[in-house]
Amino acid sequence: MSKFWSRTAREAKPYIPGEQPNESQIIKLNTNENPYPPSPNTLEAMKEVVNEGLRKYPTPTVDSLKRVIANREGVNSEQVFVGNGSDEVLAFAFQAFFEANEAIKFPSVTYSFYPVYANLYGIPYQAVTLNDDFTIDVEAMKQSIGGVIFPNPNAPTGLALRLYQVEEILQGNPNNVVIVDEAYVEFGAESAVELVEQYPNLLVTKTLSKSHALAGIRVGYAIGQEDLIEGLERIKNSFNSYTINSVSLAGAETALSDDAYYRETLERVINTRVWFKQSLEELGFEVLDSKANFLFVKPTGVEAEWLYLTLKERGFYIRYFDKPEVRGYVRISIGTDEEMERLLNEISNLL
Ligand code: PMP
Repeated sequence: MSKFWSRTAREAKPYIPGEQPNESQIIKLNTNENPYPPSPNTLEAMKEVVNEGLRKYPTPTVDSLKRVIANREGVNSEQVFVGNGSDEVLAFAFQAFFEANEAIKFPSVTYSFYPVYANLYGIPYQAVTLNDDFTIDVEAMKQSIGGVIFPNPNAPTGLALRLYQVEEILQGNPNNVVIVDEAYVEFGAESAVELVEQYPNLLVTKTLSKSHALAGIRVGYAIGQEDLIEGLERIKNSFNSYTINSVSLAGAETALSDDAYYRETLERVINTRVWFKQSLEELGFEVLDSKANFLFVKPTGVEAEWLYLTLKERGFYIRYFDKPEVRGYVRISIGTDEEMERLLNEISNLL
């Protein structure tokens, strides 16, 4: 803290991301990255820009990437907004659609960036306790003063709402924006994009970080009706009109056109999740029914925090949240079959 800091800087409560160890021998299952590499075409496209295209500014309107996304999502280009990771898309959405004097709602527990943004932009919020089975309380989300945001599937539980439940939340909030954060949707949940045509208050966000193994290039996007997208563009252009760098643009465009490759890696992750969940259950662990690329797990016979710390000492990083609502649980990202076999072996030895 310094005398030079503004009040905004003094009062900011930044998000603390998961640990990012560098040692290559570590098995890193703590930040929900995809264990498989991006497709060869994606890498080629990025290399070409590095070799030829860095001298010029990127296209600020990102038209070409928007067309690829629109085509893929079955909407038109004016219904697409692109940001530097979905974190940035969400930051712009908080500024564009939520008000300082109107409390928004999100579940508790959920993605911990939401309270960080709310705090930064001075938006009051109500964190709505999950149901006893860790599902989102749809009834409570149906009415809000200032808007609603939730991930589907939720993090860190991995549990997904059905589309009719998302629709109930949309119908209950006709005068507020409802943001559905679909960072993990490609791993098995139902996307709300098909509801965009019908609901002017719906904004769906997605990312290439998980499904397309491109967390490093920071590309995410939002789908909504033209009016919402225009609001996001106004905020973006008041901040930095070139948000997406040319290397990321080329990588994202190619990745989103390379469906067969990514469909196969998604299937591999899902298959691994299925057998790994079953194996943990055979050890007596409680495991929620995840539709994401991670599992939310309550160990039996050992404390969650002890398991997290002990595995870390042995080179396996998983996530432990020091919050009363989820005490007793750990979150484990799904890696390759080999990584999960090694982890399972390690866990079995510790019991
Ligand atoms: N939403 C949720 C629920 C997440 O878990 C994450 C990743 N931590 C994000 C959004 C942001 O992802 P990115 O900025 O990499 O697109």
